[in-house]
Amino acid sequence: MNRINRPKSEGERVLIGIPISAGIAIGPVFGAAEPPAVITRHAIAAEDVTAETARLDAAVAQSRNQLTKLRARLAVLPEDSQAEIAPLLDAYLQMIGPSRLLRGVRARVARLRSAETAVEEETDALAAAFLAMPVDPEDRSGQERRAEEVREIGRRLVRNLTRSPFRSFSALPDGAVLVCEGLRPADAALLDPSRVAGVATDEGGADGHTAILLRALGLPAVLGVAGLSQAALPGHAVIIDGSAGTVTTDPTPASLAAARKKVTAFARELQRLAKFRRLASVTTDGEAVELQANLEIPAELPLIAQSGCTGIGLLRTEFLFMNRETLPSEADQTETYRAVIEAMGGDPVTIRVLDWGAEKEIEALVTAGIVPEVGDQNPALGLRGIRLLLRETALFEVQLAAILRAAVAGPVRILLPMVTSLSEVKQAREIYERVARRLRRRGEKLPDTLPPMGIMIETPGAALSADALALEADFFAIGTNDLSMYTLAVDRGESDVAHLYDPLHPAVLRLVQFATEAALRLRMPVSVCGEMAGNPKLTSLLLGMGLRSFSMNASAVPRVKQAVRSLSEADCTRFARRVMEQTDPARIREMILGDGARAEKPVKAPRSPSP
Ligand code: PEP
Ligand code: MG
Repeated sequence: MNRINRPKSEGERVLIGIPISAGIAIGPVFGAAEPPAVITRHAIAAEDVTAETARLDAAVAQSRNQLTKLRARLAVLPEDSQAEIAPLLDAYLQMIGPSRLLRGVRARVARLRSAETAVEEETDALAAAFLAMPVDPEDRSGQERRAEEVREIGRRLVRNLTRSPFRSFSALPDGAVLVCEGLRPADAALLDPSRVAGVATDEGGADGHTAILLRALGLPAVLGVAGLSQAALPGHAVIIDGSAGTVTTDPTPASLAAARKKVTAFARELQRLAKFRRLASVTTDGEAVELQANLEIPAELPLIAQSGCTGIGLLRTEFLFMNRETLPSEADQTETYRAVIEAMGGDPVTIRVLDWGAEKEIEALVTAGIVPEVGDQNPALGLRGIRLLLRETALFEVQLAAILRAAVAGPVRILLPMVTSLSEVKQAREIYERVARRLRRRGEKLPDTLPPMGIMIETPGAALSADALALEADFFAIGTNDLSMYTLAVDRGESDVAHLYDPLHPAVLRLVQFATEAALRLRMPVSVCGEMAGNPKLTSLLLGMGLRSFSMNASAVPRVKQAVRSLSEADCTRFARRVMEQTDPARIREMILGDGARAEKPVKAPRSPSP
């Protein structure tokens, strides 16, 4: 592929990002920021010109934001890398300002061409004009570069106009490494782990939903890599180290050989961990600890079956609603839930009702007119989770009915996302009981006792009113991902503030402890199902707080079980007490993580508190 607008490879370069999903990937770069699905060029009616211009303006603004952000993030790169990449982004930014290109596109829309058509036609015309300019043959490459820059900006505008940010993954060659600026959770869910070697992106945070999906798929991944999509040339070799959080572009033969050795070591380590699948999850002094798996897409079921877990502690149902045009019917949903419950062979399954909002976009809800096409200014604080379900009760009722009908197949619990107040739980329960009565009248077979209805503790409001919520909820599942985000006011999926996202911040830990104690006082089941639960370096702290149930990415279960089996309750309690006395986040990280890195390798969690 001829990418003359990109800097030429200057040899090996190691870029640093956020380690997301362990493993090493070696392969050719597949640049996903390629032209979107082919558009059909078409005309518009005169009365649509204003709306079409507004659509174009929105796509221009979005493109400008994307480029400004990429440009700003270059500051973390070494100076020579900045000097190489920055001029290109500056050229793009200029073109997306008051430029000849945009004037031309606007004029075409005024002449009744659709915005996408106008962009394609104008960029084609401009590129052709650059190439046709009579110049000294020595400067031919300069003309080609300018023509390609215009085309690249055109592609970005069309991608944003058509809301199709990525090239279809069906074009992805087997064994390639996917490299793009950012990946939406809905796009990540479409990746086939048997074909993709690994993923790296410029954007993204440690516990965003894209990160969670990549972990679920077991794909080596590094997110938040500044300068990546400019430095990684399509077709060139790249190494992703998902544990170290590095991306090596154009690696030397020595780096390739070292990476291959790491691939072998990683496979051996997985083999060693496999033996934990069959062992009991108990501490050295005989405390049983429940280890369950999170499920975000059905493709994970075989992994879950082999993980050695005892049930699903968090079934995120968003996958049922994503990447489709219409909403799933009650029958569709019943069938999916029943299949999962049956696959778990009698182990419990906790099904969380739809958690729409924040970064989880669901086109089918837009198409059905349930949520607006243009999202809230602040979607994480908007109509998310239970808030949408209590407003759109029909959507909620269909899902509850499907879960209740499937619940005859095995033990089930229902989980409510984004709860902040007691009244939400009461309203949800009323709807739940009404749905159950209606189904019984309809003659549906339901379990004799209705499945328990619990709540996510994932907002500071819920954590701090846990004692009150415990009177109405049947169980708590502590969602440390959102709890960290809302407590620290740091977007969990945002690379710019990724360094501030810290589940070990004392404020977050105190909320986890407060909610846990509220549940334990009432002998109510409480678990942790955020990403913290799957980090074996945190097991001693969480056990020491009194927690005995964790739900995590299936691949984390053996490592966490290994940690559980190496710890005693008494040591954990002492260790947690010492951690909770600390007020300095850095000191807490030091006590827990030792090296200050995110835990990826098996660890020897502290058997006794360090002095
Ligand atoms: C959480 O917020 O910790 C959680 C488990 O929910 P999700 O990651 O789906 O938002
Ligand atoms: Mg959450």
